[in-house]
Amino acid sequence: MTPLERALRDRIQADGPITVEAYMEACNSYYYATRDPLGQRGDFTTAPEVSQMFGEMIGAALADCWRRAGSPPDAIYAELGPGRGTLATDALRLMRAAGFAGEVHFVETSPVLREAQAEAVSQAHWHDSIDDLPAKPLLLVANEFLDALPIRQHVAGVERRVLAAAGGLAFERDGEIVETSPARDEAVNSIATCLAAKGGAALIIDYGHERSAPGDSLQAMRAHRYAPVLAEPGEQDLTAHVDFQAVANAARNAGAAVTPLVAQGEWLIRLGIEARAQALSRANPKRAADVQEALERLTGPKQMGRLFKVLGLHSPEWPAPAGFA
Ligand code: SAH
Repeated sequence: MTPLERALRDRIQADGPITVEAYMEACNSYYYATRDPLGQRGDFTTAPEVSQMFGEMIGAALADCWRRAGSPPDAIYAELGPGRGTLATDALRLMRAAGFAGEVHFVETSPVLREAQAEAVSQAHWHDSIDDLPAKPLLLVANEFLDALPIRQHVAGVERRVLAAAGGLAFERDGEIVETSPARDEAVNSIATCLAAKGGAALIIDYGHERSAPGDSLQAMRAHRYAPVLAEPGEQDLTAHVDFQAVANAARNAGAAVTPLVAQGEWLIRLGIEARAQALSRANPKRAADVQEALERLTGPKQMGRLFKVLGLHSPEWPAPAGFA
């Protein structure tokens, strides 16, 4: 039995079954606080870890948007759940070259990942919550952040819960599932409120669907394989598909403008990732096959190109970021 399962069993014994939301929140807090989950030897690989080209396209889009907004000097680079800091390193290299000299702010709760981020990016500022970001124009990115925030599941209108059974944890009821995520709505509300008040643009990249629809999307990943979500609590990555319709609604309600939702592959190609791949291959012909493979992984419809999607949020006073129209 994992240490977290022991704690959850005690909690359930004392207070009764816990909601899926409380379960996901407990699992992910423990999971991220105790390890660096990324990469070949970890549990999953994210787009910035596949290739520098991913962060570079994001940096190019943010720098371009900032320039078209008149290059406000008080704008900051902000990232939610920056992992190892790889995306920030690649994006900021482009943004610095484009003249952006603003501060770097990370929202990250994991002490292990904060350490990795500090090694990758010097002079960053860390915060526990989006609400703690300074009130300044934001150039914000969140890659695979919203999928880790807890969701609620409802069956026939009743919130789904987890109980302690003889052989392990179990769901209290099954049936058609409807998911909501107040934690995500709140995160998006915070970003959008800041964009509307202070200016700026945000890029949200995640896997998910364009329209709200019923279905169970909670999943667990361990060592790059799917695993049962109630097995080994705290030792595997729990995520759920992002409902981009809910994200767009929360952003609009808070006063931000919202771009159309675009598949990651299409967005990266519009931003010029193919030319960047060619340049990298020309500069280092020995790596050409690797670059081609990474390009395919990021943009290919059977790989990350279609499942992952990009949504832009921006201040109504700012231009929309590129790649959405
Ligand atoms: N964006 C990175 C990492 C994605 S993994 C990449 O693309 O490689 C999810 C990240 O979000 C991790 O850095 C994790 O520690 C962080 N995270 C998860 N839940 C969080 C929360 N509630 N508040 C702040 N950070 C969180």
